[in-house]
Amino acid sequence: MWTEGWRDHTWSQLDQEFDLIVIGGGITGAGILRESARAGLKTILFEQGDFASGTSSRSSKLVHGGLRYLKNFQLKLTSESVHERDHLLKEGRGLVTPLPFVMANFRDDKIPGWVFGIGLTAYDLLAFKWNHAAYDPAGLRSLVPQLTAPGLESGFRYFDAQTDDARLVLRVMQEAVKGGALALNYARVEGLLKTRGRVSGVAVRDLAPGSDKTTEVRGRVVVSATGAWADEMRANVGVPGRMRVLRGSHIFFPASSLPLTRAVTFLHPKDARPVFIYPWEGVTLVGTTDVDHDTAPSTDLRIGAAEAEYLMDSVRRVFPDLGLTLADVQSTLAGVRAVVDTGKVDPSKESREFVLWNESGLLTVSGGKLTTFRLMAHTALRAVRAALPKHAIPRRTMRVLDPLPAETTICNLPPDLRLRLLGRYGAEACNLVNAAHEGEVEAIAPSPSLWAELRWAARTEGVVHLDDLLARRLRLNINLPGGGLNEMEKIRAIVQPELGWDDERWAKEEAAYRELWEKYYSPFN
Ligand SMILES: Cc1cc2nc3c(=O)[nH]c(=O)nc-3n(C[C@H](O)[C@H](O)[C@H](O)COP(=O)(O)OP(=O)(O)OC[C@H]3O[C@@H](n4cnc5c(N)ncnc54)[C@H](O)[C@@H]3O)c2cc1C
Repeated sequence: MWTEGWRDHTWSQLDQEFDLIVIGGGITGAGILRESARAGLKTILFEQGDFASGTSSRSSKLVHGGLRYLKNFQLKLTSESVHERDHLLKEGRGLVTPLPFVMANFRDDKIPGWVFGIGLTAYDLLAFKWNHAAYDPAGLRSLVPQLTAPGLESGFRYFDAQTDDARLVLRVMQEAVKGGALALNYARVEGLLKTRGRVSGVAVRDLAPGSDKTTEVRGRVVVSATGAWADEMRANVGVPGRMRVLRGSHIFFPASSLPLTRAVTFLHPKDARPVFIYPWEGVTLVGTTDVDHDTAPSTDLRIGAAEAEYLMDSVRRVFPDLGLTLADVQSTLAGVRAVVDTGKVDPSKESREFVLWNESGLLTVSGGKLTTFRLMAHTALRAVRAALPKHAIPRRTMRVLDPLPAETTICNLPPDLRLRLLGRYGAEACNLVNAAHEGEVEAIAPSPSLWAELRWAARTEGVVHLDDLLARRLRLNINLPGGGLNEMEKIRAIVQPELGWDDERWAKEEAAYRELWEKYYSPFN
């Protein structure tokens, strides 16, 4: 799709007037792009970094109803989220997968176990199903043998889902582009154009290496899907900031040190926030924190030392016999989210519902969840109708992801692997396998990703820098020890020719990736 020359080709089409300009290439922007293309609008999306380089590759990767939101009585958010989860589980097979959970309740928990029983009943009822059950400690240990912590009193089994967040963004974005939309990464919106005081376009700068192009692009409607950067964009229309930026961080253990087959959740002993520990893409994720982020939002983020300790405390609490310490951590990941600032002392008490504001013609859609991106896109499209009355209105029952090709017609692969590739690459899965050289339909162990995915992504997925490939098209920065730096020779042999980089460019990209990984994703020394 995004093969050689695609960026120049896209730039050459910027002199037309668009119906809709979307700023921000995370899940919110991708969802709006997808739905607007489906509604027949001429739409373009600009992302200042790589697609999904913001919060949408830094989430906890759950597609979930948000059981914890019930605690704050955010019933609407939970109800919408469970429906979206079930929708995505159906449409996103291979990319959005069911995740069995065990909730462990301890004798000294600040909230008694029976309260969770009521919460899970409400959770299931909102999804029109009955999918949870209560367990005693022995029953819990039959599900998760490592649950040897003293004080384990009772618990529950229930279900949610997980995904690869960056790949979800890419799939939605690529399907939008196939549907006629345009999207550019490394294209920063530096200002807004105005006509009679109303926003009527954007000023864009190309941030790809070797380019310093700028241009003005006209659009009948401009939507800011800039997430934690929303206030920065809103400042262009002269309104005061309203968002509070919160950071959440994760630590990852090799699956061999913390081997789980299902998610475990429990209340953190310090502040009774729920913590999640679960298997994801060959590693075990522990998350998350929720703290005020006091500097400007950035994609270059590192987990704080206190956050790492907080997460380690939780691991020690439930799995004391594993003897894990920070020295066992393989990688780390932090992200920021914007919530509307209502001044609550505890950041976790701020609502996670999304907002939509129209200020001098700039529509801002921010907040919400990865899980609810389709709802956010529908709401945004309804809001642009005043300016674009002829476009079709999306219906709740419509698909958001394109149907997969019949599985039986896809290359000769074991069923699980076939489904995994279909989920990530949709109709391109078979082309990916056909493009593989000998030995490349093998996992880059312990990551479940294939060497063939590296080749395919380098060739067709709009990679501008090496970290686009290693941190978002694949997730090697997290799920390989050393972020994949130990495998660089083999990676280079596959992808350098595909990317068309000379040795000098390769050396620069490799050094930049090394620095990035050490600063932001590496474990603690
Ligand atoms: C720690 C954490 C864990 C989470 N876990 C979950 C979870 O498990 N499940 C779930 O459903 N939700 C989760 N969420 C919420 C979810 O991740 C976010 O709601 C979602 O990713 C936000 O997507 P977005 O597209 O709005 O923002 P982003 O993904 O941040 O995208 C905004 C983009 O706008 C770009 N941008 C900004 N300014 C400009 C500009 N001037 N020009 C061009 N581009 C610009 C940025 O570079 C960025 O890529 C989590 C959030 C956090 C912080």
